[in-house]
Amino acid sequence: MIPGQFDYHRPSSKQEALQILGELGGDAFPLAGGHSIIPMMKLRLAAPEHLVDLGAIDELKGVSIGGNVIEIGSMTTQHELLTSSELSQACPIIQETSALIADPQVRYCGTIGGNVANGDPGNDMPGLMQCLDATYVLESNSGAREVGARDFYNGIYDTALNEGEIVTLVRIPTPAAGHGYAYCKLKRKVGDYATAAAGVILNMSGSTCQSASIALTNVGDTALYAAEASDSLAGSDLGDDAIDRAVSLAEGITSPVSDMRGSEEYRSKMAGVMVARAIRLAAERAS
Ligand SMILES: Cc1cc2nc3c(=O)[nH]c(=O)nc-3n(C[C@H](O)[C@H](O)[C@H](O)COP(=O)(O)OP(=O)(O)OC[C@H]3O[C@@H](n4cnc5c(N)ncnc54)[C@H](O)[C@@H]3O)c2cc1C
Repeated sequence: MIPGQFDYHRPSSKQEALQILGELGGDAFPLAGGHSIIPMMKLRLAAPEHLVDLGAIDELKGVSIGGNVIEIGSMTTQHELLTSSELSQACPIIQETSALIADPQVRYCGTIGGNVANGDPGNDMPGLMQCLDATYVLESNSGAREVGARDFYNGIYDTALNEGEIVTLVRIPTPAAGHGYAYCKLKRKVGDYATAAAGVILNMSGSTCQSASIALTNVGDTALYAAEASDSLAGSDLGDDAIDRAVSLAEGITSPVSDMRGSEEYRSKMAGVMVARAIRLAAERAS
């Protein structure tokens, strides 16, 4: 399919991009890696009159790791996340998740900003960012604000972004040294979106779980932070009973649709299986 007609803009600075987006309003979409928006346009599910390509804006690219915070520019690609040696030390779950997204061709172009801003429950980064308690910096030509990943998603393709606003930065509290982590994703084949996926971060003290964070992908209208399941693990020894309880609480917040990836019941159960796997793997990795 061929997309409808549109005008193409390629600003060279963030300020210029925000000005163009502010002037054009709802008729303009930001263009990042294009691996979600271009297919949507080809299918005529989206028909923006203007695309504002953020690809030439260097200030939106790169990873920086400070004492307590990791900052990732929104135009940083999945490939760049995967090859960042700093991230592999500070927050390896980002690389584990990136490696499970699509295929190398998509990862070379697809960006963290496009993935979190897209609003598709099948995207993996929103669940991961909820698991990591990340914050998104949103900017428009009238200023900047921050919204937590756990508050950003309202529904399918419905986010906290206002017209003319873009995600410029993703800010992640650096996980504690020795934390356990795992992102487990069930998919039918390489390149597929999740049938169900779960991200888990654990902080352990010996064999006791001090705190846990669990989030789910593609088993609801948005990524889901499993607050009760996370809290239920705190103080536990992560034995079978504790894991079963967390699995049951996590499954309880899912509401997947039946589709070619499986029935609602199956996908909900698979979310539980992914949670159990991710908890066990995270516990093994915690030191
Ligand atoms: C074959 C295939 C398989 C895939 N499998 C997966 C998968 O398993 N998991 C997964 O997570 N993704 C998957 N994807 C999607 C891929 O990761 C996309 O790259 C990603 O969803 C969007 O990132 P992008 O940079 O390409 O954004 P774009 O497609 O350019 O933009 C997506 C949307 O976000 C908006 N946008 C982009 N950047 C910003 C910004 N900074 N601020 C505000 N709005 C912005 C755009 O206007 C658009 O509406 C797959 C894609 C393909 C083609």
